[in-house]
Amino acid sequence: MGSIEQTANLYRSLRFNAIGKGLQQLLSEAEANDLSYLQFAHQLAEYEYTQRNRKRVERNRRLAGFPVNKTLDEFDYRHQTTITKRQVNQLLDFSFIDNRANLVFIGPPGVGKTHLAIGIGQKAIDAGFKVLFTTALGLVETLELAEIRGELKKKIASLAKFDVLIIDELGYLPMGSQARYNLFQLVNALYEYRSVILTTNKEFTDWAEYFHHDNVAVPVVDRIIHHSHIFMMGGESYRLKQKRSA
Ligand code: ADP
Ligand code: MG
Repeated sequence: MGSIEQTANLYRSLRFNAIGKGLQQLLSEAEANDLSYLQFAHQLAEYEYTQRNRKRVERNRRLAGFPVNKTLDEFDYRHQTTITKRQVNQLLDFSFIDNRANLVFIGPPGVGKTHLAIGIGQKAIDAGFKVLFTTALGLVETLELAEIRGELKKKIASLAKFDVLIIDELGYLPMGSQARYNLFQLVNALYEYRSVILTTNKEFTDWAEYFHHDNVAVPVVDRIIHHSHIFMMGGESYRLKQKRSA
């Protein structure tokens, strides 16, 4: 029988890194609590499992690329009355992700669309999903670059690895025809396969115009809203309110 250090190294070489690292403490705890062999065996497995999950969630949080940290706990429903806490909480069973449905937050600037998208995204990560935050502008640039390199398909495939793609602020800035076409390719690839959380200042009736009435406008809107929860948000800008009360 080897020493604790040798045993820990054996665990590490088997890629049970958490057990390898925590062995000393796990042993002491088992002794202190008079664990049975089975209890101890179970505890080791559970420890490795929990630590791996935690690491994965941490990694997913880094990969998500949130521009700022916003949580749902910070969201004030007394200010934003066009959406209820209940409506948001209902989304947190994440059946919308399992069903490959989309969330669409529509409204003027400052009403909390991005805040909710990030807050829901954070919770989805906690629940084990992979999420990527992008702005519409950043996304269009990324796709354009990939297209120029002849790697649009590859890029879209890599974006489709995420369970949820947040596309923030669609509609604020004009898009060229190639950009609209690339976006269509993406939306098409994600349709009924992954979830999109979209924030936009444009109502659907404005989209045809935004897409210059080209032939991808209707299919894009169609695919996004087909399976979706749509939240029309109004009220006054939270930024303005803060400014006034300052
Ligand atoms: P939008 O994306 O609709 O333009 P944001 O979500 O970026 O608006 O909100 C603007 C700022 O106001 C952010 O700092 C956000 O955290 C804050 N904010 C907006 N609505 C609320 C709210 N109801 N409760 C708390 N903070 C809010
Ligand atoms: Mg926003």
